[in-house]
Amino acid sequence: MNNITIIGIGLIGSSLARAIRHNYSKVLINCIDVSEDNLKKSKSLSLADSYNTKINKDVEKSEFIFICTPISAYKNIFNDLSKLNLDQTIITDVGSSKVEVIKLANEFLKNKVFVPGHPIAGTEKSGPENGFKDLFKNKWFISNTCELCDETHIKKINDIWKNLGSKIETMNSKDHDSIMAITSHIPHLIAYNIVGTASELEDDIKSEVIKFSASGFRDFTRIASSDPTMWRDIMLSNKTEIISLLEKFNSDLSKILDAIKNNDGKFLFEKFKKTKEIREKIIEAGLDKN
Ligand code: NAP
Repeated sequence: MNNITIIGIGLIGSSLARAIRHNYSKVLINCIDVSEDNLKKSKSLSLADSYNTKINKDVEKSEFIFICTPISAYKNIFNDLSKLNLDQTIITDVGSSKVEVIKLANEFLKNKVFVPGHPIAGTEKSGPENGFKDLFKNKWFISNTCELCDETHIKKINDIWKNLGSKIETMNSKDHDSIMAITSHIPHLIAYNIVGTASELEDDIKSEVIKFSASGFRDFTRIASSDPTMWRDIMLSNKTEIISLLEKFNSDLSKILDAIKNNDGKFLFEKFKKTKEIREKIIEAGLDKN
């Protein structure tokens, strides 16, 4: 790999730049970001070899283009890329939802190669100063099948992430979005909601909430401090899966509410026992640590 472009040099884009630089020492990295401030920070961290605020003809030299922006920026980015000659280039991305992204790519990137991708790695922080080289090590990278790529293209992208230390899986976009809705998107929604509810309590109670926020609530506040733009985009771009799961979640919650109202301790005990078993399985699989 000799020449790549990273569009969006935030947490994920900058971590990718660091990891690729470490693994492919000769690579030239062109980075594009609308944020002058993030470009300045990236320059001071020597993350890339060239820095631009706009997609230009230079991008045509890239063997790979990694899109690492919030999903709401994709339409304009795909539109800009559609005007370039990218016959020798594979376009890929890191976006957290896939069905809608692929629909948009089908519309704008006809006759181009696009391999949808999603590293299951991240933190609640944003920006290039918070990225790090080992972010993707021992974490899953999921690529998706779609009409704009074949097995050879997917293999090339998978091989890059494998070299960065990721574990690889390829699946269709619908399965990806259902799995992510329950394992990541709904948990974030719950965290945003519970912290939102607490923050709306009256001021005197709120101070007590913060004072006694050890363990459970504190973990929610960490998750709920994640970037609002990114999470707004994820909720809206994976709305079908999120709505259907949230409806199921609400119905399950109503059963718990009824059990509490009816002093149904047996129901509550069985419910909590079952979920404890899931945690034990996660520990057994060695997946309980970051
Ligand atoms: P981030 O730290 O906020 O970085 C995004 C960067 O893209 C920012 O510098 C942003 O500038 C820039 N940008 C916005 N619109 C742009 C455009 N049209 N052209 C070029 N640059 C643009 O975000 P992130 O956490 O790295 O997330 C990026 C993507 O990774 C998202 O799609 C997200 O779904 C995915 N992802 C995130 C995580 C995670 O945990 N963070 C994990 C896996 C996947 P401004 O700041 O000025 O907007």
